Amino acid sequence: MTSVTLTQMRGIKHMTAMRVLAIPTEVANLVRETMKAPIYGFPAHSEIAAEAAPCRHCLRTLEPSKDRAILFTYDRFAGVENLPQPGPVYIHATDCPRYAADSGFPEELRGSPRTLEAYARGRRLLAQEYVCDGKFEPAIEQLFARPEVDYIQVNSTTAGCFTFRIERVS
Ligand SMILES: [Zn+2]
Repeated sequence: MTSVTLTQMRGIKHMTAMRVLAIPTEVANLVRETMKAPIYGFPAHSEIAAEAAPCRHCLRTLEPSKDRAILFTYDRFAGVENLPQPGPVYIHATDCPRYAADSGFPEELRGSPRTLEAYARGRRLLAQEYVCDGKFEPAIEQLFARPEVDYIQVNSTTAGCFTFRIERVS
């Protein structure tokens, strides 16, 4: 076996060591149908994307001046904690495939600064890492090495918005 193949195998193992959880498809579809924020009922806003923000469902970058986006209020702890923390997020206005959880860190988002927030259940923030150099995996591994960390929230460092959640593969 060549060293290249070994490296590739390690790479694949690396990629499947975490689950990347974009917002659920049911949420994205509900917002597209009702044009309202789930739970809150605030009106959602549809516009042609002005900036290259990530769609929180497919985790691909919206193409400015081309893709139609919906901006709505989303509780970044929905389905995980009882204590909400609503904030604005974008999704594609039309159908897009949900990001596959076993695909590793989304390559399209590697080039922008993200904050990794490590939480224990009960929304106890234990640590945060600011990653600006695209090297997310070592930081994620380090945070998950702490047994008290249950999940990691990934936010935009520049805009502060929720991007997606990461869980351990158990
Ligand atoms: Zn999308």
